[in-house]
Amino acid sequence: MQITGTHFNYFQICRRKLWLFGNGLQMEHTSELVYEGKMIHENSYSFRSDRFKEVETGGIKIDFYDPKNHVVHEIKKSDKREEAHLWQLKYYLFTLENCGVEGPSGILEYPALRKREEVFLSEIDRITIAEMLTEIEKVLSSEVAPEKLLVSRCRNCSYYDFCWSGEIQEIEDA
Ligand code: SF4
Repeated sequence: MQITGTHFNYFQICRRKLWLFGNGLQMEHTSELVYEGKMIHENSYSFRSDRFKEVETGGIKIDFYDPKNHVVHEIKKSDKREEAHLWQLKYYLFTLENCGVEGPSGILEYPALRKREEVFLSEIDRITIAEMLTEIEKVLSSEVAPEKLLVSRCRNCSYYDFCWSGEIQEIEDA
């Protein structure tokens, strides 16, 4: 299976989310938070669109790529999941490298927070990403969904209702 940036991002957040997504259950379209994030994404760069190209290669889709400088711009709404954002961006750089792009780098941007971070790929990152890919394949090929996280970590997840509506009903009925 082709591992996408979304698989990679979900792997950092929750194995169950990765499994559900990988098994065809996609809920992002029902999430207001995701919609809001998409709006920030589109509006933040509409005025700079000439400088950037949309690129699809090796299973990843990059919305804002600067081909002249080999820089990927990844735009996010909030930095609450910064670690996941960072690895997703590093995975883009890893994939670009594997597709023959020399020395790609990235900029992680949070326009609403006026925050940005330059991102580079190290040798340790390359090894870590290869290990993560093996783990992702393992999760996706499992017959059963991984366990849920603690509910306190699920509040903003687009799969929240899917994972928790039964339990919440049981608690209310008890
Ligand atoms: S609701 Fe929680 S357990 Fe379910 S997929 Fe989302 S983060 Fe994972």
